[in-house]
Amino acid sequence: MAILLDGKKVAGRIKADVKKALAGLKKAAPRLVGVSVGQTPATCMHLKSQAKLAGEMGIAYHLEVLPEAAAQKEVAEVIAGFNKDAATTGVILQMPLPAALCAQTLRSVIAPQKDAEGVHPVHLGEVVLGSGSIMPCTAAACMEILKDYEVPLRGREAVVVGHSEIVGKPLSMMLLKEFATTTVCHIATSEAGRLEEHVRRADVLIVAVGRAGLIRGEWIKEGAAVLDVGINRYASGIVGDVVFEGASRRAGWITPVPGGVGPVAVAMLMKNTIALLQK
Ligand code: NAP
Repeated sequence: MAILLDGKKVAGRIKADVKKALAGLKKAAPRLVGVSVGQTPATCMHLKSQAKLAGEMGIAYHLEVLPEAAAQKEVAEVIAGFNKDAATTGVILQMPLPAALCAQTLRSVIAPQKDAEGVHPVHLGEVVLGSGSIMPCTAAACMEILKDYEVPLRGREAVVVGHSEIVGKPLSMMLLKEFATTTVCHIATSEAGRLEEHVRRADVLIVAVGRAGLIRGEWIKEGAAVLDVGINRYASGIVGDVVFEGASRRAGWITPVPGGVGPVAVAMLMKNTIALLQK
């Protein structure tokens, strides 16, 4: 049976670091603003955990909810307003956005010095260069989990499923930095019927798609580390993209969903919020 990669435990270590950094801050008090366009069950869950952790850390948190039908220009103007607001030190644009809005464009409206999620093009570019102190939260959370559990990466086969700008792509760069031999799978890999063969040879498998049951338990290599970023909501609760029961019998390490990557990603958001003030 696999070792459970306990996100709450990893988050606890990061939270302790954040508290220490917060105590040492000489500059203005941190204030994180969440900008949400409409509110889906997915955004509500993120917002609740962000507000709760910010409160626990002593970081002021404000939520700005715009109507579901808000136009791109309107959302951009609201973000620009927070860029100018001296009391706001960090901004996060909540995902998912309504289909009519372009996440990439709106992320680039956030001033880099207030980009608490680490998803502005400047910060994503720094990931390619292997430098920078503000990292995309969810991708960085996966790396923190691997580091805390001392999962070997150098020379190992790492397979990332999903190539989004804020999770899969930066994660593949972070794995390369650690000298993992990294493969990125996406929709065309599945369309070509080749997802299984890539997953089967992964020593480290990270899945960030948002499709329950995409990765079958019998595909997992014996002893592999499996990180499931996916969040899929059902009336019965939340599940990831990996069939946990079968996968946990074969894996060496595995994240639960919930309680795996999620809590670490929120802790990384707080870490970034403080790091922005240390710059
Ligand atoms: P996203 O932007 O929708 O990206 C999903 C990726 O999966 C895309 O690259 C897509 O490829 C790929 N994909 C879709 N169907 C596929 C298939 N059948 N086979 C292989 N690849 C496929 O989502 P995201 O923001 O990266 O988030 C991914 C998941 O992680 C979601 O469930 C989200 O809720 C969750 N998430 C969790 C956390 C956390 O803290 N735990 C944080 C962020 C996100 P194409 O674009 O080419 O179609």
